[in-house]
Amino acid sequence: MKCFNCEEEARGVCQFCGLAICAIHRQTKTFITGYGKKTRSAIFDSGSKTGIHVSNASWCGQCDVHYQESF
Ligand SMILES: [Zn+2]
Ligand SMILES: [Zn+2]
Repeated sequence: MKCFNCEEEARGVCQFCGLAICAIHRQTKTFITGYGKKTRSAIFDSGSKTGIHVSNASWCGQCDVHYQESF
């Protein structure tokens, strides 16, 4: 598969939308996922360490990422 932005072979895939990207056109963005194993009330009481936060996830630079508020 080729990079979405140029004709280079892709080296990765955007974590958010799935577009293929080469090493030059790879950007990074914070990726957050997971609500953890705890119930909602337990999260308010003691937090949850089972959610995932990747500060340098691969991003194509094309897709429009919105971070939404959640509990
Ligand atoms: Zn490229
Ligand atoms: Zn993308």
